[in-house]
Amino acid sequence: MSAGNGNYDAIIVGGGPAGVSCAVWLARLGFAPLLIEAGDTIGGLCRHNPYKDDWNASLPGMSGVQVADNLALSLAQASVQTWLSGRVESVQRVHDGFVLKGSAFAVAPRAPYVVLATGVRARGLGCLSDFGGTAKGLLVGPGAHVVAQDFRGKRVAVLGGGDNAFENALYALGRGAASVQVYARSLRAQKQFVRQMSPDSITHGSYVVDAHALTVNDQAYDVIMVFYGWEPCVEFAADLGLQRSRQGFIATDMQTAQTSCAGVYAIGEVAQRQHPCVVTALADGVTAAKAIQARIEAAA
Ligand SMILES: Cc1cc2nc3c(=O)[nH]c(=O)nc-3n(C[C@H](O)[C@H](O)[C@H](O)COP(=O)(O)OP(=O)(O)OC[C@H]3O[C@@H](n4cnc5c(N)ncnc54)[C@H](O)[C@@H]3O)c2cc1C
Repeated sequence: MSAGNGNYDAIIVGGGPAGVSCAVWLARLGFAPLLIEAGDTIGGLCRHNPYKDDWNASLPGMSGVQVADNLALSLAQASVQTWLSGRVESVQRVHDGFVLKGSAFAVAPRAPYVVLATGVRARGLGCLSDFGGTAKGLLVGPGAHVVAQDFRGKRVAVLGGGDNAFENALYALGRGAASVQVYARSLRAQKQFVRQMSPDSITHGSYVVDAHALTVNDQAYDVIMVFYGWEPCVEFAADLGLQRSRQGFIATDMQTAQTSCAGVYAIGEVAQRQHPCVVTALADGVTAAKAIQARIEAAA
């Protein structure tokens, strides 16, 4: 199929590892994919990971940012058509596939197959839920904004009982915080992290936060870090009525990554298909690309 008239073989929404992997595989299999990314760079959450990524066995010693740069390079080398700064706002089913709309698009692209690879965002406190935090002293989720924070001499509260909460509590202590108190409604973090905190720096049970006054249980803090887990970024696909898992992620078939809507695939963290990380997101991209190849070739 020609890609010059707004028609593509498949449109991939999201330029993180899952979406890039799917697009690169489709291009190298001889198809014409379009990748649309809301941000102005490729890489997804890897762009927010300034730390070394020692979990990726094929890229030892690289930081998340370097992984993101490599993803952009792979897309370019496979000559994948890529639209940056192009937030998809809706996906509509039409007789021969799907049309995607966004206020930044001059032409609404269409394709018989759509791949949702839009990842997750950190859950905030309801009123302040943007990834990275929106108020002075309030940091939502992990990433570069935590690294940029000067913790020296600061009183820090950490909200959450998972690995991210404890890893970042330890990070703040290591960066010179005067005190770090973890507030955990339930304790789910690995024991190796919990053991490194003194027991009286962990408040286990319910607590009350005032995000504007920066208090927890009326105790004042200089910095409050929030680690309440993640939620999928899929509002734009609401019209498709996709089935969700109990946790709200897109439900998919394990063999193909297809969703409950024929022709729509979901990969990476938006579907939470396996343990979420770069390697599993890349693998998911391959699964969807091969499933789409099989469908295209069966229809030819
Ligand atoms: C601080 C931090 C450290 C991490 N460390 C590691 C590590 O060491 N090793 C590891 O393996 N993993 C690590 N991870 C996790 C890893 O980054 C993620 O598992 C991985 O990036 C998920 O890939 P994804 O493609 O599913 O989603 P994402 O990477 O989140 O990509 C989704 C993309 O979709 C785009 N998007 C969203 N909505 C729209 C829309 N409507 N229209 C167009 N585009 C849209 C987003 O802008 C984003 O670029 C880390 C994550 C963080 C935050």
